Amino acid sequence: MSTSTSYPIGGMLFSYYLICPRKAWLVRQGIYMEQESEDVALGKLLDETSYSRNEKHLDLHATAPDGTPLVGKVDRALLRDGVLHETKKGRTCQEAHLSQVRFYLWLLKLNGVTGPGGAPFKGQIDYPALRRSEPVTMGPQQEEALVLQLRHLTRLLEEPHPPARISKRAFCSKCAFEELCYG
Ligand code: SF4
Repeated sequence: MSTSTSYPIGGMLFSYYLICPRKAWLVRQGIYMEQESEDVALGKLLDETSYSRNEKHLDLHATAPDGTPLVGKVDRALLRDGVLHETKKGRTCQEAHLSQVRFYLWLLKLNGVTGPGGAPFKGQIDYPALRRSEPVTMGPQQEEALVLQLRHLTRLLEEPHPPARISKRAFCSKCAFEELCYG
């Protein structure tokens, strides 16, 4: 059975799915909460105030092997160094953030784009508030996991009803959807 969708899957949606499948489903329905957009605005501000501007934003488009259209907005790319940068406020959802960057690296690979000397692009997550950075690598194992997660996500988005809430109530208390989920 084909699991591809006709609408694109973005890196942010993919990251939401890894944090909470229900959140990804709600966002795909077009439901955005106010705090969510404030967080995005804050992230953008961090991005624009923390680094020099000799770097490029990238809008990526690709098609997964199963036909699913994929899109990605990369915070900053140092093309000469072959490094994609993603800015985050904190490390609470680090695994999801790592996968989001790997998603972008995969989009480049699907487009046949390589870095200097034909080497694959690398990733880096920057935490300006913490004054630290985390390198992101992408090997065959991570790519396999990513493809599997993407397949699960596309299936989930076809469901007529949202999945159950996650069990981490403490995490939900910081989520913009808390009132919707528990109200
Ligand atoms: S409140 Fe909890 S269950 Fe609801 S979308 Fe947010 S993280 Fe998921």
